[in-house]
Amino acid sequence: SIVGKYDTFIGYYNDAMHKALMEEQEIAGEMNTALRNKEFVIYIQPKFDLNTFGVIGAETLVRWKHPEKGLIPPIKFIPIFEKNGFITELDMYIFEEVCKTLRGLLDKNVPIVPVSVNLSRADIYKPDLCEFIVDVMARNNLDHHLIEFEITETSYTQDSEQLINIVNRLRELGFAISMDDFGTGYSSLNMLSEVPVDVLKIDMRFLKNFNDADVKSKNIIHFIVYMAKWLNLPVIAEGVETLEQVEYLRSVGCYNGQGYFFAKPFPIEEYEERVSNVTFAAPAVSYNIEDII
Ligand code: C2E
Ligand code: MG
Ligand code: MG
Ligand code: MG
Repeated sequence: SIVGKYDTFIGYYNDAMHKALMEEQEIAGEMNTALRNKEFVIYIQPKFDLNTFGVIGAETLVRWKHPEKGLIPPIKFIPIFEKNGFITELDMYIFEEVCKTLRGLLDKNVPIVPVSVNLSRADIYKPDLCEFIVDVMARNNLDHHLIEFEITETSYTQDSEQLINIVNRLRELGFAISMDDFGTGYSSLNMLSEVPVDVLKIDMRFLKNFNDADVKSKNIIHFIVYMAKWLNLPVIAEGVETLEQVEYLRSVGCYNGQGYFFAKPFPIEEYEERVSNVTFAAPAVSYNIEDII
């Protein structure tokens, strides 16, 4: 009967919801202890010049080294922390740890590249965000050009004024800002026209099913690169996994990339041994617009 089906549906729905809620509560309940116990660990993934294969920078990515559950990827806990507000505390912790690590490397004369830290949209509401960032940089005696911030456009829906405010201040302070996951948000072009950024990161979804049959994704990449040139913005492609993709990106004028083809993210402690034998390069930003039409 209808009633029977309805009951079953409600029951099923409640079970799934209940399980998700329990998981969320469990994660939220453990987050403060996890922070104290240093269970959040920092991975780093280099960014490359697609012509010379030199390293131009690196991005830090958090993982949760859970004592029982093992290494938990950010997708499992970042959305929960974005909901309950803990994300900003975590992001500031990551940022500070990254700064300490860079200071340690500099003290050992290890060559370093600019390192980017992901910021969540929620972080812009931290009242003393810029002051905190400047203070951490000063305490570690780091040049502002050594740190960049990646801001995802995905959650751009409201309060662009506050976002523009923060981005302007950070840029005035000498920090570069990347627009992360470009092409996937609700209002990519709107954000691009309103928020002054230094780099466009092309979301990896366009490279995901990369093959000759997927002409659409290829053309979208081509278009984004072309548009970025008109806006005088350097671009970098995320999720580069094959040489074929490298060659395609180069052919349309995208000269920077990041992905498993070059290096998977690795623990930041391994930075010294992993980068000691690589070549460094300045980001490829010079190009002729005619090259890519
Ligand atoms: P994102 O900032 O766009 O980072 C790129 C993601 O792509 C990372 O996933 C990276 O491991 C993955 N990736 C890199 N190259 C490849 C590739 O060739 N193939 C594939 N399939 N994947 C690749 P990850 O580390 O799981 O992070 C996911 C997202 O979580 C990040 O996306 C970022 O939005 C967020 N996130 C990570 N760390 C932090 C953090 O410290 N703070 C904040 N607020 N968000 C973070
Ligand atoms: Mg990022
Ligand atoms: Mg991204
Ligand atoms: Mg992202």
